[in-house]
Parts: sequence; structure tokens; C-alpha cells
Amino acid sequence: MPVLVMKFGGTSVATLDRIKRAAKRVGLEVAKGYDVIVIVSAMSGETNKLVGFVNETSPLYDAREYDAVVSSGENVTAGLMALTLQEMDVPARSWQGWQVPVKTTNAHSSARIEEIPTDNITAKFGEGMRVAVVAGFQGISPEGRITTLGRGGSDTTAVAFAAAFGAERCDIYTDVDGVYTTDPRISQKARKLDKISFEEMLELASLGAKVLQTRSVELAMRYKVKLRVLSSFEEPSDEAGTLVCAEEEVMENRPVSGIAYSRDEAKMTLVSVADRPGIAAAIFGPLSEAGVNVDMIIQNIAEGGRTDMTFSCPTDQVLRAQKALDEAKASGDINFAELIADTEVCKVSAVGIGMRSQSGVAAKMFETLSNEGINIKVIATSEIKISVLIDRKYMELAVQSLHDAFELEKTT
Ligand code: ADP
Ligand code: ASP
Ligand code: MG
Repeated sequence: MPVLVMKFGGTSVATLDRIKRAAKRVGLEVAKGYDVIVIVSAMSGETNKLVGFVNETSPLYDAREYDAVVSSGENVTAGLMALTLQEMDVPARSWQGWQVPVKTTNAHSSARIEEIPTDNITAKFGEGMRVAVVAGFQGISPEGRITTLGRGGSDTTAVAFAAAFGAERCDIYTDVDGVYTTDPRISQKARKLDKISFEEMLELASLGAKVLQTRSVELAMRYKVKLRVLSSFEEPSDEAGTLVCAEEEVMENRPVSGIAYSRDEAKMTLVSVADRPGIAAAIFGPLSEAGVNVDMIIQNIAEGGRTDMTFSCPTDQVLRAQKALDEAKASGDINFAELIADTEVCKVSAVGIGMRSQSGVAAKMFETLSNEGINIKVIATSEIKISVLIDRKYMELAVQSLHDAFELEKTT
């Protein structure tokens, strides 16, 4: 029988009633003849609560134990979803990541999926089971320890299962009815897209649009998974949601197709480091070893052989970054006068494959922000995106004014 993957995010399984509602949707697909793999997230708020427990217990936690704690939310919803389906007379069984087993790297708290053996679940389908409910977000490391895939990782679990089982489609059910030109919770003018290219979705996701985890888009692109984002609160329909697909299938042609933001950014400045060969390696090596995800980097012009080095990273990694740099200083590998952490910044980005062929996008972006009196602290560009770091208090204003400036509410 053809296989369908259906993923339900936190809001879609937030209460027993919502689990029931989701299970009914699963039942509809089973009735159509699909064997269904359901991937569930933890009930909304659960993972945040668990992360909070970990941080309170141990601010510079051991990531193996972080994973042991934060993976548990999904176990609850997987079991409850299987029970709900059984109550509806749909033969269902739950799996935790290690039972499948979802084999991952041992990069705790942001592990990558390496392999998903299908025999276990396929055998059960063969015995008449119709729905395999799998706890998203989690796997097992080569050492046999529980891993998690990074926040939002259930999306990646879903796409990886769709690829492994050759699923006809991977439906991501969430609390909005598709992918928008920007977060509909920030701009009322955000417009739902019927289709978006893998490339643009990948950029938007990696720049903060959390509707899909970045790696899920990467995997869908690589394995040609038919990926759809839709709401679990709207009536089922074949046209619902947004299809993430190849660039050729998307008709719109405009320089910018979406605005993304990432709220929790920090700007770190090392004041007065020696301007010498190897200094960047001496700074960013220890940061990388400490698991800090450095994003933007700028090195100022040197004066008298000294320079300032600025980089950005997620706010929740500031402590780790400080510790790593202080240790490097103590061991004599680097020398700096001061480390300044600005934790009140955010990143706002404009994304569009049209940028490849149309110029003037950066100028328009900077002018728009300037007209709003917003100061740009750091700029980064690539072929299809422009990102700026600005004060967090201007985030909504920046997103809305850029959405207006690039006329994203209008269809072409
Ligand atoms: P889930 O719990 O279902 O995984 P998430 O909270 O992870 O849901 O992702 C859905 C949220 O993503 C939406 O509620 C919305 O606020 C946010 N979002 C950010 N950017 C976009 C966008 N461009 N289009 C749609 N939603 C977006
Ligand atoms: N529950 C996890 C999180 O909140 C994974 C997910 O929902 O995708 O990040
Ligand atoms: Mg999510």
C-alpha cells in the first residue's frame, strides 16, 4: 500500500481533543488506502518547559543529559496518539526514536539523521497495522544514547521518514495554513504562498522562519520528497496549504519573495585583538569546539596592529561563547581587552531567487530601514538573501516595512 507521512506539530497535539482531531485526519487517509506514518511533536509548550528545567539545573549543561530530558515530550504524544487511533478502531502502534531505530550522529542537541531502517515498521504494516506513530525530534547515537535533532526537529524526522519509506507525500500539519511571505503573526499583510521553491524555503528556514526546520527542507530537496505545509485546524482539501517544490514549478518572479527574522540573536565583540595571521582561527576554533553556532562575522580595520572582531550567535549560546573565549585568553592563545555581549539584537532578512538577476535589492532594503530610523549593526549577503542585525525593539517594524517596500502582499 502507498505510504503517507503526516506530521503534527505542538499546537496540533496540545490537548487530548486536538490529538483526537488529528487522529481523525489520519483516519481519513487510512480510509483512502494509505499506510500512514504519523510523526508527532511534544504538546505545545512542553519542550520549552523541559529546556527551562535543564537550564535551571545546569546552565552549561551536558548535552547528552539535555537530550535525555527534552526528548521526553514526544514520547507522551506518540503513545497518546496511538491510543486515540486504537480507540477509533484504527490499528496503530507507537515507536520512540531508538526503537525504530532512527540512527543519528552523536552531535547531541543538534544531531543529524544518518539512517532509518524500514524493516521493523514495514513488517508491522504487513501484519495489518495501519498507522505507525513515531515520536519526532529524537534518535539514537552510535554510542546508544538518546539524541535530539535541534529545535523544530520533528519536521526533519517527518521528511526523513518520507524519504526512507518512499512516501507519496509528507504533510506537515501546523498552526498556520501554509508558508507565508512573512510570519503572519508579525504582519497582517503576509500572503499565503501556494508554492515555494526549495531554495527559498531553505533560506527562509535557516534565517528564522520556523514553520519548517532547515534540515527538513534540505532533506526534501535532496530526496525529492513532496512536501506540503498545511493547517490541522482547517477542513481537509487537496489544494490546501503550500507545496514546497522545485524552482521551475514556481511561477512568481520577483526580486524578494519573503522576509524572515530571528529574534534571539546576540552580537559579540572582542575589543582589541592582535591583527595577525591565524587570529580568526584562534578565536573561532574554540567557539566551534564549544558548540557555538557563529553566524555573521566582521573584522574591523586594524589600527596599531590591533583590531575588533564582531560575530553573532544565538542568545542561548552566549554563556558558552564567553567561557570558550575566556579560556582561550587564559591559555594565552588569544588576547583581547574586553568582550562585549549585546543580547538585544535580532536578524531580519530578505530572501528571493529573483535577486540573482535583479539589482538594487540591498539598496532598497537599507533605504527602507533608514526611513524608519533603524540602525543596521551588521550586514551579510549571499546570492539570494540579505540579512541585517538590528536592535530587537525594531524587529516588527523592520519586518512590516520591508514587507511593504517589496510589495509582498500583492500577487504578481
Ligand atoms: P509546529 O509546532 O507546528 O511545528 P512552529 O511553531 O514550529 O509550529 O511553526 C509554525 C509557526 O511558524 C507559525 O505559527 C508562524 O508563527 C511561524 N512562521 C514564521 N515564519 C513563517 C512563514 N513565513 N510562514 C508561515 N509561518 C511562519
Ligand atoms: N518539540 C520539539 C521542539 O519544540 C520538536 C518539534 O516540535 O519539532 O523543538
Ligand atoms: Mg515546528
